[in-house]
Amino acid sequence: MSLVDAIRARRQAIERELASLAPGPPPRIVCVTKTHPIEVVRAAIEAGCDLLGENYAQELASKHEALGEAAVRWHFIGRLQTRRIATVARVADVVESLARLEEARRLASMGYAGDVLVQVAPPGAPPGRNGVDAREAGTLIEQVRELGLRLRGVMGVALPGPEDEVRRFFRTLTGLAEAYGLPERSFGMSADWRVATTEGATLLRLGTALLGPRPE
Ligand SMILES: *Cc1c(COP(=O)(O)O)cnc(C)c1O
Repeated sequence: MSLVDAIRARRQAIERELASLAPGPPPRIVCVTKTHPIEVVRAAIEAGCDLLGENYAQELASKHEALGEAAVRWHFIGRLQTRRIATVARVADVVESLARLEEARRLASMGYAGDVLVQVAPPGAPPGRNGVDAREAGTLIEQVRELGLRLRGVMGVALPGPEDEVRRFFRTLTGLAEAYGLPERSFGMSADWRVATTEGATLLRLGTALLGPRPE
């Protein structure tokens, strides 16, 4: 089977399950292409992936450039580094990983017009993991709004662990989105997309489940 056929088959199998698991409209899939070479990104696009996710600004920029005007939307899902934030602002259609007021200020000062999601950290996240503490998320959400950014939702990466803890974190995210009237809820990765879907995710970020293991 060609790579394109393999990705398409995995995608279709996942989509069939989403239709039965989702309480509402099924979530859309962001295909996470980080560390995969450009041939794999091209194969994913040919297999029907139209939302692509990247974690590193320079990798995002070089893939964006290599693909030219391909009809895809790029989601930035990595930590926003100060010295790379202008690159992200230039290329990303959606920034899913905004976690600090300073990043919001910089994006706003650059006139960033794409969609923005606030990344919330799971309880007990080790230091250094990206994301605002859930107790401070409301304040950041209000500040991001006041800056005039197109705030659309919340994003989270669950810690690996028992399903009920993963579910509880996804419920925290859904609660925040509802409290602030935000339509997008980006949670669910290869290990937990079924739980995420039953908890009302609108975006799943899938790497391994679609593309297989990442090259180092
Ligand atoms: C790498 C990554 C993903 C995809 O991970 P998989 O487990 O391969 O699906 C999703 N979200 C973020 C933020 C990531 O860094």
